[in-house]
Amino acid sequence: MTPDTQVGADAPRGTDGSRRPLIVGNWKLWGTRAQAADYCERLSIDAHGPADVGVCPPFTALDVCVEKLGSSAVAVYAQNMHQESTGAFTGEVSAEMLTELGADGVVLGHSERRQYNCETDRALQEKLPAALEAGLQPILCVGESEEERERDETQRKLRSQVQEALEKVAGDRLADVVIAYEPIWAIGTGKVATPEIAQAAIAFIRALVGDRSRDAAQAVRILYGGSVKPDNALEILVQPDVDGALVGGASLDPDGFARIVAAAAP
Ligand code: PEP
Repeated sequence: MTPDTQVGADAPRGTDGSRRPLIVGNWKLWGTRAQAADYCERLSIDAHGPADVGVCPPFTALDVCVEKLGSSAVAVYAQNMHQESTGAFTGEVSAEMLTELGADGVVLGHSERRQYNCETDRALQEKLPAALEAGLQPILCVGESEEERERDETQRKLRSQVQEALEKVAGDRLADVVIAYEPIWAIGTGKVATPEIAQAAIAFIRALVGDRSRDAAQAVRILYGGSVKPDNALEILVQPDVDGALVGGASLDPDGFARIVAAAAP
């Protein structure tokens, strides 16, 4: 990552709502070291383009991406971390281990980790401050299931996830967190949320941050995630409260991912 595109406290953002868009590709369980190297060589992102850009490779390819993308505008995020810095937690990775590899940030609370790996809001409450303390930009994922939306419980779910996860983040660090609204029913299903649904949910999340700090609510970047593709990105990204996208499947094609980035406008 070049110095003028740093994420976190130095990220360009306005207090008047002019937040710089952020587009992040989540590779999930994809990417050997060879595949990651090839991907990074094929990814063409303009450092002076319309958005900040990041990729989330698996742990084993983080250093490959850091090395390959080091001189580009693309940040590298891990897909998870443990809240403790050391201890009897077999199979886990700490914030310091990620910064040692040169990672810029970390995705926390992805719905797949909540579903398959027992990720809890209580653990996230510890993970967010630990990531910030280590100098990693956290991307906190929240979102409702299809059943919760049908039962009209979307706001209740978002309120509890956002309030609990951010509880131990100091007010003056809230804007350094990125939040991704990812309705579970839209992830990997091809069923993208309508622009109206994405806008309403993200405006609601911004208001929740506003309950803690009005300045942070203006500055915090809130992304949409769920079946974003090159041909539907624009209608979502032009929504006034949508500050970018967390892209899963469609990010695995570097050309398609670059087209999604191009759809972002400040
Ligand atoms: C994701 O993994 O966060 C995601 C949004 O996936 P997809 O774009 O494939 O729905």
